[in-house]
Amino acid sequence: MHRRAFVKNSTLSTAAMLTSRGLRNPIADEIQILNPQNRVPVSFIIDDSTALVNLAYYGIPQFKEVFPDQYLQNWKKLPREIPDSFVLEFIEWCDNQGVKGKYSMVPYPACTGWLHRFIPGWTKKELEASLKIVRELVQPNWDIHSEMISHTRVINTKTGMPFPEPSANFMENWEWSQAKSADELGEYIAYSLQILKDAGLHCDGVTTPGGFGNRNIPNLARGTQFAVKEVYGGKVAHFFREVVTDKNQSVQPQVFHAEGLDGEQASCSVHIIGCTGDWFGGWDGLTPGDADRFITPDLKEGRMVEVIESGEPAIMVCHWPGIYYNGDKLGFNIFKTVVQRLHEKYDHLIWMKLSAISSYWAAKEFTKIAVSGSQVDLVAPFDCEDFTLQVPGPLTKAVFKAGAKTIVLNRVPSKKSLQKNSWTIDGSNTILCFDLPRGSSRIEG
Ligand SMILES: [Zn+2]
Repeated sequence: MHRRAFVKNSTLSTAAMLTSRGLRNPIADEIQILNPQNRVPVSFIIDDSTALVNLAYYGIPQFKEVFPDQYLQNWKKLPREIPDSFVLEFIEWCDNQGVKGKYSMVPYPACTGWLHRFIPGWTKKELEASLKIVRELVQPNWDIHSEMISHTRVINTKTGMPFPEPSANFMENWEWSQAKSADELGEYIAYSLQILKDAGLHCDGVTTPGGFGNRNIPNLARGTQFAVKEVYGGKVAHFFREVVTDKNQSVQPQVFHAEGLDGEQASCSVHIIGCTGDWFGGWDGLTPGDADRFITPDLKEGRMVEVIESGEPAIMVCHWPGIYYNGDKLGFNIFKTVVQRLHEKYDHLIWMKLSAISSYWAAKEFTKIAVSGSQVDLVAPFDCEDFTLQVPGPLTKAVFKAGAKTIVLNRVPSKKSLQKNSWTIDGSNTILCFDLPRGSSRIEG
């Protein structure tokens, strides 16, 4: 299950070898897989979105039924809908800024209705129009996730009915998932994904509602891997489960259950970790956030500054009701401020979908690399975009070859100008950036 490394003699230096994680690279300065384009990945996770339904309005009374002392929000005052006009406004702004991320489509939102059939309270035409927006305008820059089936009651996948007992044991957010096997979780996740597939949406990953699987992460990872493979054929599945806001802890993606690494069918499951809380508008759309917690007005401090400067992927987390904020758009306005400040301070960020981050980390962890003279040989079980590799010694040219494909990489003056299919000299090293295909490929210097 670990990345195996192979070694060839090198005339440039002693043979360099990679082990299973970059941090454990024994000769770290010799060969290093850098971040994509040598930039810092950033992304935006949107939870609790779906078509039309305001999940806070319909979810709060179901949570309150289980925990009557909590969930005291006056949910009847909330709008029952988050309109498509707002989805369009939000996506247009994000596209203009280059923002990418993840957008949930809860398949059976709070048990109101099914995205692939109908939702009581809206016409079939309205539902179709809403799905079309997500399919055509959201999907290009955002991964679509299910967030289990209902985000409230657990559904018996044999009957399609909620289990009768309104307790934490039969709510997706709490206990039901904690002692389930990978197969049981996989079946449940596949059920959720099949609804989205039938609604014409593509998924490579899922989001966990509330505490779903938080004490059962290896099985959650495995179940997600089974489900994504079964429903969509995806080999690098990913899931969003944890948020880490402690600056002493890593927020790098975690790669689970890699298998079949030497064959055509390599697969794995990547745990994506958010690095912020929802400091936008809260999950209920009633909890005002604060842009300064992400990045202060003087651009010097904040959780995003902390993570970006560590070089790890900086992935913000919000909830759709809080972005809309019952029509006040408070969360959206905070997000706009955060993005503007980030873009003012940094010129080395790269917005990525979670699926692209997952593929990159899977490739980073399991690609075998050997340097021999001015030749670099790669064997990759997983492909990814903008694979960025530092090798020892200055090359004089760089030609990428894979099968019948040959690309002459373009030399650029510095690390700052690296992009796809380019290379540069950095001190005594060479840095190369190219799309890594699955299988064997080579750089000839
Ligand atoms: Zn959620």
